[in-house]
Amino acid sequence: MKTDLRGPRRDAGGEGANHLNDGLRYPGPNAPYYVSTGHEIAIFETCHARRLPLMLKGPTGCGKTRFVEHMAWRLGRPLVTVACHDDLSASDLTGRYIIRGNETVWLDGPLTLAAHAGAICYLDEIIEARTDTIVVIHPLTDDRRLLPLEKTGEIVEASAGFQLVISYNPGYQHALKDLKPSTRQRFVALELDFPKPDIEADIVAHEGGVDRSIAVALVTLTNRLRELGDRGLAEVPSTRLIVATARLLGSGIPMRSACRTALLGPLTDDADLLAAMHDLVTATM
Ligand code: ADP
Repeated sequence: MKTDLRGPRRDAGGEGANHLNDGLRYPGPNAPYYVSTGHEIAIFETCHARRLPLMLKGPTGCGKTRFVEHMAWRLGRPLVTVACHDDLSASDLTGRYIIRGNETVWLDGPLTLAAHAGAICYLDEIIEARTDTIVVIHPLTDDRRLLPLEKTGEIVEASAGFQLVISYNPGYQHALKDLKPSTRQRFVALELDFPKPDIEADIVAHEGGVDRSIAVALVTLTNRLRELGDRGLAEVPSTRLIVATARLLGSGIPMRSACRTALLGPLTDDADLLAAMHDLVTATM
C-alpha cells in the first residue's frame, strides 16, 4: 500500500532534521527504572500485541513518560516522543517539504518516522494540541493503521511494532479544551496516579539518591501537601517534585531550602498558600 514519492527526494534524517523529526530513540542495554503500580505493564503489552492504541491519563509528574520509556525498552521498540502544544500543526507531525540547497526534499515528521520504523509514538499532553492537528492520528488508530500524507499523496502503512500512545492530565483545568469523543473512543484508557506511599518512597530513594528514611519523610510531607490541593493549588505536588527535592537534599542543601525551592515554589505564587505550606513543612520535618 506504500507508494513511493516521485519527484522530490525523501530525506528522513540527517542534519536539520532534528527539529522536525523529534528523534527516534532506540532502547539501550539497561531498562529505564520504573516501578510498577498495578497491571499497567500487562495492559500495555497486550495493547501492543493486539495493535490497540493507548491513552494514559494521570496527573503531571506521576510517571507516565517514564512508563512509556520503560515499555519501549521492554518491547524492544524505538520511541518517538512529541510534546504537544497549541502551535503544533498537522505538518509538524506528518512532515513537510523543505528547501535544501537547490533541492526540495521531503522531511518525515515524528508520526511518519514512527509509522515507518515500527516505533512507539508517544504524544505527550495531547490535549494541548488543536483539534485539526489531532485528527491526523485518527487513520492510524483504525485496524488498517494508515497514515495518509496529504502533501505527497503517499499513504504510509504503519510497520509492525508501531503503537500510538497519548497522554494527558484530566485533573488540570483545561477550560475549553477536551478531547473529542471521536478521538477518545479510539483508545484504551489506562489511568495512572501517584504511587502508594511505600512505593513512592522507594522511587524517591532511588531517583533522588537519598536514604529511605528521608524518602519516607518527604513522601509523608507531600501527601499532607496533596490534601491542601482543594485550597487553590492548580496541581498537587508530583513524584517528580519529590525526586527533585531529594536530589537537592542529597547534595547538601538544607531541608527547608530544598523544600521551599523544589517542592513548594513550583506549585504556586500565592503568598498565603506558600506560608501555609511552609508551616506544614516545619511541622512535619
Ligand atoms: P509524567 O510524564 O507523568 O509527567 P514522568 O514520567 O516524567 O511524569 O515522572 C517524573 C519522575 O518521577 C520520573 O522522572 C521518575 O523519576 C519519577 N517516577 C514517577 N513514577 C515513577 C515510577 N512508577 N517508577 C519510577 N520512577 C517514577
